[in-house]
Amino acid sequence: MPTTVTMQMALVKSCNASDCAYYKQGNECHAMAITVGGPQPYCDTFFRSSNKGGAEQTGTVGACKVDNCRHNLNFECSAEGIDVIAQQNNAVCSTFKQR
Ligand code: SF4
Ligand code: SF4
Repeated sequence: MPTTVTMQMALVKSCNASDCAYYKQGNECHAMAITVGGPQPYCDTFFRSSNKGGAEQTGTVGACKVDNCRHNLNFECSAEGIDVIAQQNNAVCSTFKQR
């Protein structure tokens, strides 16, 4: 049986990827739950669209595949929150800390 833990979903405290479909003014992410992909700590949910979408809530991290991050616990994010920064063609989790 895999080990399971009870934890709160990490909030996306800020994201400045203003061309993402889930971005809302004020550096807010409104995707209900993003996936952060491995091996690089990129937001996999990022996609460019002039049509804005998402939910009426602050985004959270639904899953994270970056297992060499200190905050990663069983492929989930155990940080209280994360910050995401636009970088060329990706949006990067800047809360990433190498194990
Ligand atoms: S890049 Fe990721 S964190 Fe940023 S607004 Fe888009 S879905 Fe949210
Ligand atoms: S802080 Fe680490 S575990 Fe959390 S989303 Fe970013 S890369 Fe994944």
